[in-house]
Amino acid sequence: MPAIGPKQAGRQRWKVRSAAVIRQPRRSLGWRAALLALSSPNCPLRAWRDGSHARRISTVNAWTFILPAVAGAGVSAWGAFHPRSQLFGPTVHWADNACALTFDDGPNPQVTTRLLSLLEKHEVPATFFVLGKYVREYPSLASEIVARKHCIGNHTYAHPSLLLLSRQRIIDELNRCEDAVFQATAVRTACVRPPFGFRGPQFYPAARRAGFSKIVMWSVNGWDWNPQPACRVSRRLEKVQQGDIVLLHDGDHRASNADRRHMLEALEYWLPRWKNRGLQFVSFG
Ligand SMILES: [Zn+2]
Repeated sequence: MPAIGPKQAGRQRWKVRSAAVIRQPRRSLGWRAALLALSSPNCPLRAWRDGSHARRISTVNAWTFILPAVAGAGVSAWGAFHPRSQLFGPTVHWADNACALTFDDGPNPQVTTRLLSLLEKHEVPATFFVLGKYVREYPSLASEIVARKHCIGNHTYAHPSLLLLSRQRIIDELNRCEDAVFQATAVRTACVRPPFGFRGPQFYPAARRAGFSKIVMWSVNGWDWNPQPACRVSRRLEKVQQGDIVLLHDGDHRASNADRRHMLEALEYWLPRWKNRGLQFVSFG
């Protein structure tokens, strides 16, 4: 092979460099600077390039959905479960210048007659939110409630949770209870209380469609639906004052002969004391 001179060697090197430049993609000065910056370990863009930035963005995006969803669920739960919520329609939860005793889930042959006698003794009117299935079973108890000048309210026929029932199913439940009450007492009810106090957005329109003008909730809960020492119920009733609607149970939606002696004993204690304090009582007609 013939030896090459310095001139030829220089030309050869130039050709090799030119080929390398041609093989590489041509990059502007700005692009090269960006690549250099990106390769720096301190570059914030590196986190983005590695995916951690993407993770942060996706976390932020997730929270922007989760937080409103949690807040919305909380507001809806409050609207559906809290007795004083007005979110899904107006309710009565305050008795203005008087106090209202309400008794749910009866009539109950073990309790209702004794309760009526107790109320009569202290001349206190009350409202009984009855279940249609027990009115059918004990119509004479329902008519006794009316005969003693108390009011009857509709608490559905079988005490289902109305939260997820369709509007028509709710109307059917209310109408079945209404039919049972009317057959037993010849009286139409004007107020309604949803079982467990649960109501969704469809409840108020359904109640209006079924002809009810008042949805009556409560402000004091006796938490008396399970057998317990009477002193516990009594302690819960200690705070009753003018304006309160008190929720108590003479019946039990799970059994028609429920034991409610604890509630009767607590009332026996409080009725004379409430009267001595000057509390006035009303019922919801
Ligand atoms: Zn109930």
